[in-house]
Amino acid sequence: MNDNLNSTTQPLTRKEIKDLKVLLQFTEVYCRVKHEGAKLSITTTEPELQALSLKKHPVCKECREFLLYAMQRRLCCPLDDKPVCKHCPVHCYKPEYRQKVREIMRFSGQYLIRRGRLDLLWHYFF
Ligand SMILES: [Zn+2]
Repeated sequence: MNDNLNSTTQPLTRKEIKDLKVLLQFTEVYCRVKHEGAKLSITTTEPELQALSLKKHPVCKECREFLLYAMQRRLCCPLDDKPVCKHCPVHCYKPEYRQKVREIMRFSGQYLIRRGRLDLLWHYFF
């Protein structure tokens, strides 16, 4: 039995990088409108996460914790050929964070439509 934690860390695929960039973008929009307080960009030493332009998406402390959690879950997902997370049998997010993802996606999706930023949604859905 190999329980070396590091062995579960895989490089991110292009699809995962895209998914996480969407999550960063949507969380930034959500945070900018809904949250007060100082916005800072996320810093992480994970080499896999350096591809994500984290500096472009400053968010509040609460959202930084949420995003780091979400990114860690992606790095450690046990399913090799991932189904879309919505259909994933593992459900790796904690319930409170699953709720938050849904709220962020719904809020920011509507916000971007109202602002005519369909280009950002286009990247999300296609
Ligand atoms: Zn926030």
